Amino acid sequence: MAGFRCMNHPEREAAHQCARCGKPLCEECYNPDFGRCRENCAESLVKPEPKGRSAAFRVIVAILAIIGALVVLLLTICGALIFTQ
Ligand SMILES: [Zn+2]
Ligand SMILES: [Zn+2]
Repeated sequence: MAGFRCMNHPEREAAHQCARCGKPLCEECYNPDFGRCRENCAESLVKPEPKGRSAAFRVIVAILAIIGALVVLLLTICGALIFTQ
């Protein structure tokens, strides 16, 4: 990226380039986890509240697992009742 300047810091030389928008970025503006610029492209990938969402997601998964287990149990009981008649 020689000769390019960071899109946010014109005084800095760009060390990276965003994989999404292709803009030149300095170390501070580049997010190595995403390979994108922090300001526009990488931040949009991150959910506003990742911890809260993942906790809610775990609760939903747990509820679905319980419902699934109950359905399997119900089907087992129904199947047992039908076959024992
Ligand atoms: Zn970008
Ligand atoms: Zn910068």
